[in-house]
Formats: sequence, structure tokens, C-alpha cells
Amino acid sequence: MQIKEEIRKLIELQKIDSHLLNLKQQKDVIKPGELARLKETLESKKTELSSKEEAIKQIQIKRKEKELDLETREEAIRKAQAQLYQLKTNQEYKAKLREIESLKADVSVVEEDIIRILDELEKKNKELKEVQEKLQEEEDKIKKEISKIEAEIKNLEAEIKNLENKRNILASEVDKNILKKYEYLLQHRGGLAIVPLRNGSCGGCFMNLPPEITNKVKQYKDLVQCEMCARLLYLEEDFNL
Ligand SMILES: [Zn+2]
Repeated sequence: MQIKEEIRKLIELQKIDSHLLNLKQQKDVIKPGELARLKETLESKKTELSSKEEAIKQIQIKRKEKELDLETREEAIRKAQAQLYQLKTNQEYKAKLREIESLKADVSVVEEDIIRILDELEKKNKELKEVQEKLQEEEDKIKKEISKIEAEIKNLEAEIKNLENKRNILASEVDKNILKKYEYLLQHRGGLAIVPLRNGSCGGCFMNLPPEITNKVKQYKDLVQCEMCARLLYLEEDFNL
């Protein structure tokens, strides 16, 4: 077994594994996060719409109440007016007239209330219509974005599968013990198992390593690991990198 050849395969494997890690991050974290945010936005728009609808419903209830109130008061005026002609004394007549005046004053207050409510309703209905139109537009836009991201996730899945096949073939060509070490490091060192040694410094943890480490790496007799992070080391110039 030639160490340098094994390292060459590991460098290639690392390239694929780093790419895979990135793709999986996209597929499992980034894209689902984007989807969740879009769905949340859609929900909050719908909530805004239903709160506007609810506000309108409340105003309409108020309007009904006021209209009923108005009817009752108008009925009372009609009754009082009918009574006018049955009254015997001037005093009773005057008192009734005052009562009617007071009833009419109440009626105009209620009528003003109703006009205000109708104005409010008009305003709220206009707002609702705007929100509905905006929501429809945004909903279409968001739904398009959602299908785009779902398609991207499908593409990522295919790309990952393809790359995993490639990785498995390459991994099967690596010496079993070396592969075991590499995979252990891959798992415990944030997906980075083999790194270049550049000007005596580890490409993984950036620790400066003594010159004898560089000399040892250059010989490619054994695997050399960083003293600090234990990642496997190589020199880029030895692999035309
Ligand atoms: Zn290191």
C-alpha cells in the first residue's frame, strides 16, 4: 500500500464529502427553512384578512342594533303622535309635544350614529377588498416560490444520491483501516477529515505545527495527523493542487 496513493484518494473523497455535506445542509436545513418562512408569511396574511372580516362583522352587528333601536324609537314617536289627538287638555297636549320633541332628538342621534357606522363600514370594506386583492397576488407569488423550492429539494435529492454512489465507489478503493480513520475524523471534525498543511499551519484548525511535521508529511511513509485537531495532513504541491 502506497500512502501517497491513499492520500490522493482521500483528498478526492474529502472533496465529494464536503460537497455532499453542503448539499445535505441545503436539502435538510436551508430549503426547509425557506419553505417554513414562506408558509408562515402566507398564514399571517390570511390571519390579517380574517381579522378584517371579523371587524366588519362586528360593525354590522352594531349597525343592526342601531337600526332596531331606530325603529323602536320611530314607533314610539308614531304612537305619541297618535295619542296627541286623544288628549283632552292643553297641558297634556303640550307635555306630549315635548315628549315627541325629545323622542325626535333621540332619533337624530341614532341616525347620526348609523351614518357614522355606514361610513366606517364603507371604509372597512374598501380596506378588506384591498387586502383580499393583495393577498391573492401574494398567495400566487408565494405558492410559485414554494413549488420552486420543492423542485429544488427534489433536484438536491437526486444530486445527493448520484454523489453518494460516486462516493461509495471511491471509498471502496481506499484501504479499510485508513478509511475507518478518515470516516471517524469526518464525523468528529465537522465534516473535514483531511486538510492541506500550508506554510506549517494546519488547514483545519490553523495551528502552527513544528517543521518536522512538514518533513514527516513530505515522506508519505505514514499518515500524519495534526497535533491539535488530529486531522490528516498533506501538502498541496505534492498533488499538483
Ligand atoms: Zn489541525
